[in-house]
Amino acid sequence: MTQLVWFRNDLRLADNPALTRALAAGEKVAGCFILAPGQWQDHDWGPVRIDLVLRSLESLAESLAELGIPFHVLKADTFTDGNEALLSLCGQLQVTTVHANEEYSVNERKRDRLLKKTLQHNGSDLLIYRDQTVVPAGTLRTGSGDPYAVFTPYSRQWRHWVEQHPIQLYPAPGAQGKPLAVTAIPALTHLRADHGHWFVATEDAAHEALDAFTREQMQHYKEKRDFPAEPGTSLLSPYLAVGILSGRQCLQQAQQVVAANGGGDGAHTWITELCWRDFYIDILYHHPRVGRHRAYKPDTEALTWKPKGDAFTAWCEGRTGIPLVDAAMRQLNQTGWMHNRLRMVTAMFLSKNLFIDWRAGEQYFMEKLLDGYLPSNNGGWQWSASTGTDSAPYFRIFNPVTQSERFDPQGTFIRRYVPEIAHLTGKAIHDPSRAGGVAGYPSPIVGLKESRKQAIAQFQALKN
Ligand SMILES: Cc1cc2nc3c(=O)[nH]c(=O)nc-3n(C[C@H](O)[C@H](O)[C@H](O)COP(=O)(O)OP(=O)(O)OC[C@H]3O[C@@H](n4cnc5c(N)ncnc54)[C@H](O)[C@@H]3O)c2cc1C
Repeated sequence: MTQLVWFRNDLRLADNPALTRALAAGEKVAGCFILAPGQWQDHDWGPVRIDLVLRSLESLAESLAELGIPFHVLKADTFTDGNEALLSLCGQLQVTTVHANEEYSVNERKRDRLLKKTLQHNGSDLLIYRDQTVVPAGTLRTGSGDPYAVFTPYSRQWRHWVEQHPIQLYPAPGAQGKPLAVTAIPALTHLRADHGHWFVATEDAAHEALDAFTREQMQHYKEKRDFPAEPGTSLLSPYLAVGILSGRQCLQQAQQVVAANGGGDGAHTWITELCWRDFYIDILYHHPRVGRHRAYKPDTEALTWKPKGDAFTAWCEGRTGIPLVDAAMRQLNQTGWMHNRLRMVTAMFLSKNLFIDWRAGEQYFMEKLLDGYLPSNNGGWQWSASTGTDSAPYFRIFNPVTQSERFDPQGTFIRRYVPEIAHLTGKAIHDPSRAGGVAGYPSPIVGLKESRKQAIAQFQALKN
């Protein structure tokens, strides 16, 4: 008899509820993962994200082999095929219980319900555990029992819950038997890209990064986090996106550093970011439509977006003539990552100044980001486009040139990614068109003032 751990968005050994519970049952334990290129495509995962998952799997396979836990890698494109492959593995291994950590999207929840039914029909079971959040999704409610729609009261309740429920991590398991041969992960080279390899996809590397950030940088987070040229943020998002780290581990580590050394406003602000992550998961949990390309605010569905056309291509390629936007998009294309301040700037530029449907940008980010994560990506896009919960008011539109002067004052970040204007001095680096332009670098593809006015008018028209 075997207990099977189905790894999904939780590619780690430590603080893994499903793995711990499976081991506690006292039977043989095996692990499995379903490679699902068809699903990955449906979820807009790009080559850099797929590569991260495959590298994380390689590392997980090594760790499981060391512990003597067999690891089975299945391949199935659709959820139906995946469930069938899993059922067949359950038959082969005489599985009594499948253990898995919760996933939140509608189709994933439906898939799990169907699998549970079939397993139960066959005399076994599927047990699902709360995992991706610090505070389990769906737990916090307003005084009137509704899900929260506004972040600040949610975060107040979240902090209260965290105080009342000290974090208890699930320990990483010890050896279960002699080391085994490492399960080979199919290379799938045609689906992968290697420009995210600067990011090391192992649990050890994740813990080193978490430890270093919380001890050395977290205290300065509040002052430094908005400047893309500086290493002011943790860069942990890819680990969280594929579950090499859990939110609980991050919070507990931050709490321990605060308890030992104090952390001041920096720690407080950083912990608020972990809360934002939970908030957006909670939104997806309660409002599954946001995961199905629908606006959180239904009235904004009536906005008439402009056709994507050349402007969208210029945005994607970092050729808009607005240096900070272009530097940010090139950072995304070249490294698979983009700084949070720049995600807001580029998303607002697309959805407000170019007035192109935020869903096109959401999809492009998902295809390019190493840390692509539906709840946060959707939340960030709907925040920027003013279609989401507690989003930026529609009339508060970032001016990307002013943002550039404020958050990249010397143009250091711009020079890194837009070499054709690197020679410019003074304020011209933020807006070369003001200094007569630079040969080989485009003029701005849109007037910032006029497009801002037009976007505001479009939102105001919704009220009439
Ligand atoms: C348009 C847009 C798209 C985004 N897409 C994604 C995405 O696909 N995946 C993703 O993980 N984040 C996304 N974010 C949120 C945020 O930009 C990234 O989490 C952050 O830049 C990651 O860098 P870091 O790990 O250094 O974060 P830190 O600043 O060190 O924050 C710590 C952790 O908190 C979480 N976090 C931080 N800011 C946010 C936020 N605004 N919303 C939700 N969680 C947050 C992340 O897990 C992050 O790793 C998006 C934001 C915007 C505006």
